[in-house]
Amino acid sequence: MKDCIFCKIVKGDVAAYKLYEDDDIISFLDIFPIHPGHALVVPKKHSVDIFDTDEETMGKMMKVAKKLSPSVMKGTKANGINIGMNNRAAAGQEVLHAHVHIIPRYDDDGLKAWSKNLFKDDKHKKELYEAIKKEL
Ligand code: 5GP
Ligand code: ZN
Repeated sequence: MKDCIFCKIVKGDVAAYKLYEDDDIISFLDIFPIHPGHALVVPKKHSVDIFDTDEETMGKMMKVAKKLSPSVMKGTKANGINIGMNNRAAAGQEVLHAHVHIIPRYDDDGLKAWSKNLFKDDKHKKELYEAIKKEL
């Protein structure tokens, strides 16, 4: 996809610190890391987000995230790892080429992934439960 920064990295037109590469997936260090060592797992074939990425490719991305996590953990001397994927602008997605984040975390690093919320009431909980199940 023209003008897609991750497609340019896949093609080798833009440099990146590559950690892993196979026929379908590439992984490299994030240029603006949440903590240094923050890595991205990216499908070589352009897709925008989880909705647009086929199940097999999502599986391959998670497989690579699983493979790389211990190395990121040890290499950065992290105490934990967040695996995450932002989908759509409302969820914080900035690069519109699907990717999974591997984020090293440290005890008391002060970062909060997200705050917790409550359902308005039991009726609300049941309504949302039914609405999601209907879409399955
Ligand atoms: P998003 O917010 O879309 O989930 O995350 C996109 C990530 O891509 C960000 O963490 C950002 O720092 C990273 N990023 C954006 N442009 C580049 C780039 O040119 N090279 C690399 N290595 N990472 C990038
Ligand atoms: Zn792309």
